[in-house]
Amino acid sequence: MTTLADPVPGGRPGDVERAAALAGELAGRGVHGVVLAYVDTAGIGRVKTVPVARLAAAAAWGVGMSPVFDTFLADDSIVTTEVLGSPDGDLRLYPDLGRLTVLAAQPGWAWAPVDRVTQEGEPHPGCARTFLRRIVADAGRRHGITFRAAVEIEWVLGRDTAPEGAFEPATTGPAYGAVRQVELSDYCAELLAALAAQGVDVEQVHPEYAAGQFEVSVGALDPVAAADRSVLVRQTVRAVARRHGLRVSFAPAVLAEGVGNGGHVHLSAWRDGTNLHAGGEGRYGMTAAAESFVAGLLARLPALTAVTAPSPASYLRLRPSQWAGVYTAWGRETREAAVRIVTGMRGARERAANLEVKPVDLAANPYLALGCLIAAGLDGMTASAPLPEEITGDPARLVDTKTETETTTEADAETDAEAEAEAEAEGAAARGVRRLPVSLTEAVAAFRRDELLRAALGPVLADAVTAVREGEVAAVAGLDDEQVAAAYRWRY
Ligand code: GLU
Ligand code: MG
Repeated sequence: MTTLADPVPGGRPGDVERAAALAGELAGRGVHGVVLAYVDTAGIGRVKTVPVARLAAAAAWGVGMSPVFDTFLADDSIVTTEVLGSPDGDLRLYPDLGRLTVLAAQPGWAWAPVDRVTQEGEPHPGCARTFLRRIVADAGRRHGITFRAAVEIEWVLGRDTAPEGAFEPATTGPAYGAVRQVELSDYCAELLAALAAQGVDVEQVHPEYAAGQFEVSVGALDPVAAADRSVLVRQTVRAVARRHGLRVSFAPAVLAEGVGNGGHVHLSAWRDGTNLHAGGEGRYGMTAAAESFVAGLLARLPALTAVTAPSPASYLRLRPSQWAGVYTAWGRETREAAVRIVTGMRGARERAANLEVKPVDLAANPYLALGCLIAAGLDGMTASAPLPEEITGDPARLVDTKTETETTTEADAETDAEAEAEAEAEGAAARGVRRLPVSLTEAVAAFRRDELLRAALGPVLADAVTAVREGEVAAVAGLDDEQVAAAYRWRY
């Protein structure tokens, strides 16, 4: 279970005794150290580790770490905001003992996500996990809503023997190909064993579309646990790969061209134990509340991309017809709309129905991404926002045709097909179908204008997001697409 209470000096009630007992148990299982993990604003996983003998002390008083990492860029250079980025100050990392996991692919190690507090014992306003805990707790208290969430993980496997920085796919088999499954058979089996030993309920693992690419999908949990799990799964994917001489990239675009690595988010809202995405009077069984949740999310997607697609490399992935969902549109089982409605099979819908948000990648801090998606959806729900009509097929067809149609109309040479295309384009505009930002610069501009998201994050986190994104933009100034892909290839 996720611990929703803030850490306090001396430890959360019962935590110190629990940590002492856990330490004994861990030592008995051959565990020497505990990885204390969080994700920074740039989406990089950062850690401190302690010997198991220090776990109780960590539960009581936390472990020190500078707040400067909140404004680190993916290349470890540092930007500043009014309050962050200074060499001064310290924070305490408090492990969530409820999520402590023995790492099956890193013998001798356990892992736990942390919340960060100040030395005065106050929640650190730059702590992404604390932000998500708040959003979830508020949703429960103010709206009576709980959530279930899961993050899909895609990654590309390269050979360790490739020249420095280069990418040589570890398997050359076709997309979804049996060849790949056979070539990486031992790796995938060991990954499944490790995840099972860690209590991760894997739904499926499959070879994906891009060269050397795989994907794992896992069961849904409360949002904080789902974000923790996405961090844990990545740690495991990487650890197993190392044991097989393989290198892992979770970068949004490993190469400048072609399909990238997504981190699609599945989300469902529940009230009194009932899934709001099933059994309702709305489209595909959605309740009015679920429809408005989707509407709220769609309306803010351009600003949300600054959080869900935070790297300059994210915009190499966010291109039409790459299944990354770059249009503010929704549809049932549509692969090119930003929001895909998943109804599940007849008979399983009460449990399975959910929505999938596609323009999310694994450079995103999962705590920030889930918290902001939920804040946007809840805003739609509170306002009873109307959900536009769905789309089918590839929205690129609708939006791109519009420009062409305008040109032909001017030329006064309208055929029936063109008139039809024009009507479709008008329909798309009426449905609010817009292309998502094409660059991180555009995304940050939209984020700056979004008062709701900024308020939800609070000034410290909102400023950190803006400063870090602008820092990333500056860091790649003058680079071409290939160089941008290479710069981030092995950072995530
Ligand atoms: N790799 C695609 C992406 O970047 C997703 C493929 C899929 O639909 O699973 O989002
Ligand atoms: Mg996939």
